[in-house]
Order: sequence, then C-alpha cells, then structure tokens
Amino acid sequence: MSVDDRRAGLLQPRTAVRGLPLYAPDVAPCAVDVSENVNLWGSPPASLRAVTSAAPERMNRYPSLYSTPLRDAVLAYLGLSEANGIGLVSGCGSDDVLDAAIRAFGEAGDEVAFAAPTFVMIPIFTRLNGLVPAVLPMGPNYEVDPQRLVDRRAKITYLCTPNNPTSTAMTREAVEYVVDHAAGLVVLDEAYAEFAPDVFTSLVTRSERLLVTRTFSKAFGLAGLRVGYGVGSTAIVEAVTRARGPYKVNALAEAAAVAALSEGPDALGWVTARAADAVTIRERLASALRELGLEPAPSAGNFLFVPTSRAPAIAREMRQRSVLVRALSGLPHDIAGVKAADGHALRIGVGPWESMERLLEALREALACA
Ligand code: PMP
Repeated sequence: MSVDDRRAGLLQPRTAVRGLPLYAPDVAPCAVDVSENVNLWGSPPASLRAVTSAAPERMNRYPSLYSTPLRDAVLAYLGLSEANGIGLVSGCGSDDVLDAAIRAFGEAGDEVAFAAPTFVMIPIFTRLNGLVPAVLPMGPNYEVDPQRLVDRRAKITYLCTPNNPTSTAMTREAVEYVVDHAAGLVVLDEAYAEFAPDVFTSLVTRSERLLVTRTFSKAFGLAGLRVGYGVGSTAIVEAVTRARGPYKVNALAEAAAVAALSEGPDALGWVTARAADAVTIRERLASALRELGLEPAPSAGNFLFVPTSRAPAIAREMRQRSVLVRALSGLPHDIAGVKAADGHALRIGVGPWESMERLLEALREALACA
C-alpha cells in the first residue's frame, strides 16, 4: 500500500456517515410555506423582546453550561419537580436531545425500535451512532402495536405522538403499555404535544426508563433558535446530558425560550392562544380537504397528513402557485390509505386562515390539472 493509499484510507469518513444523504427537503421560496410544521403565526412577542435585550450583554460570553435557568422554567411549565427525582436536558433542538439519548444508551449494533413511518431523523441518528433501526409496521388505521414494539426487546424504543408525518396520536393505553413493558430505554417524542388532546409527559414520574422529548420549534414559534429538551428520571437525564456535552443552547435562544414560558398574553398566553387557533383551523382545513375528495388522517398536531397517489404532481403544481407543501413518497404500505395512494402523501402545516385560503385555492387548481 502506498503512502497515498494509506492517506486516502485515513481520510475515509465512517461507513455509517458515507451512506447517509444530506437532509434535502424542497425549500423553494414560496409566498405560503406550510412545509415545516412550525408556528406560522410567528414568535411570542416576549421572546422577541428578550432576544433584543439579551444580545448586547450576552453575545460575547458563553451561555450557561447546561441551561439551568431554562431547566427551571420548563419544569415549572410541565408541573414537574426535581424534588420528585425528575431532571431535564436541553439541546440545540430536540434533534440534539434525541441524538444524544441514542448515543448515551446504545452500543454499536444495538437496536432502536419504532413504528414506521415516523420522524425521519430517527433512523439517521440511529445509524450515525452505530445502532440499527428495527422498523415495525403501523396498522391499517395508523395504529401503533405496543405488543410488537415490546416483543422486539430493543435497547431503545422510540414512540412519537402525535407522530410526524402521519399527524396521528397513540392511545394512552398503547403508550402506557410500552412504557411499562419495554426492555430498555423508551423515548417518547412529544414535539407536537401542545396541539394534542392527550399528553403523556407526566408518565416520567411513573417510569424510570422513560425520556420525553419536546421542543420550542412548533407551538412556541422558536424553530430558528433551535431549542428542545428531554425530561425523565435524573439518572437518564444525567446520561443524556453527558452524551450531549456543554453549551448546546445558545444564550439568545435560552433567553427567548425562558421568556416564552413566562406568564402573560405576549408570552405563554400567546403560545396557548395560537395553539388553540391551530387546532380550530386544523379541523376547518380537514373538512375543506374532505370536500375536495381527499382523506386527511385524524390529526392531533399542527399539520395534516393526506395520502394521495397524486402527491408529487400536486405539490409541483402548488409550488408553481407559490404554495409549498411537503410531498412524501416511498412510504410503507401498511396503512390502508397510504397503500391506496401507492406510498404517496402530502403533509400540510396549519397556519392563519388567510394563508389556508390561499393554500386551498392553489390546491383546487392543482387538483384540476395535476
Ligand atoms: N420530533 C419530531 C416528531 C419532529 O417533527 C421534529 C421536527 N420536525 C423534531 C422532533 C425536531 O424538532 P427540533 O429539533 O426543531 O426541536
């Protein structure tokens, strides 16, 4: 082997990294962009003020090591307490927390079990950390089978409710069954909890194997600042914190997130009012879609999942009318509606009704010609 060959070998990225595509959704600039499930009303005014006032004095310094002020504010928001053995780990988006949780608990070759389709980053973080995805099917009506998940005896079991991209929620019975019977760590992703009729965060007080992750990117309107967190028993949280490393939430993001959690109509009141708007408009949009002959899945999030074999063409036509929705293809056929749509679906974020009217207009036109 020549020196050059050896150098080439040393410069090879890890196999798991070489095989990974870059995340590359369609991000064409459009007048109405409902492709990302973010808060389409904007950000809490209190957070905007907090960023402006924190910037001059905090930008030249490192943020707090492990975001202690944020931890205290979030635990109070969730009605949880360190006194009950509960801890919190924050991160650069809940992505960061999910990634660190897999790294903290999974040895190379261990399995991460989940029902598909689910959040696209989960198989990616799984492989990046040297673990193996154990992909289980959903039922014909978007059900997650708790017994199948438990029977897999994976090192890590991932649940997502409401689930991205299907928008559907798991039943309390199913969530509790997995939490009570899984062999290893259970990660319950509640990124869309603020829009859901039932939330399961408080199960952390009943199970030491549960990490619940949530985010400021959706209802809280701070996706651009990248703040998320996980709550669970102090032992789990401590391990995830170690795997995560220090300084992951930047100073301005932390100030904005803490401000959003304060009481008042331009802080937490703003967040809850906009989440309630999203739920109302979600139902209005769902019936408008049904009138157009589409069949959105029953949604518990701030977006709709609409199986249709024409998804790619419809999305293309809508984009030409400056409306960006997410077209998904290659989805598993276990869900009856997705099978009928040959694995294609649209994912449509919910926002102010005026933008939904614009979306519906583009959709009607797209359906006529796609
Ligand atoms: N979980 C789910 C289910 C999501 O849909 C997303 C964002 N698309 C995330 C986690 C990650 O969100 P963030 O990193 O912005 O907190």
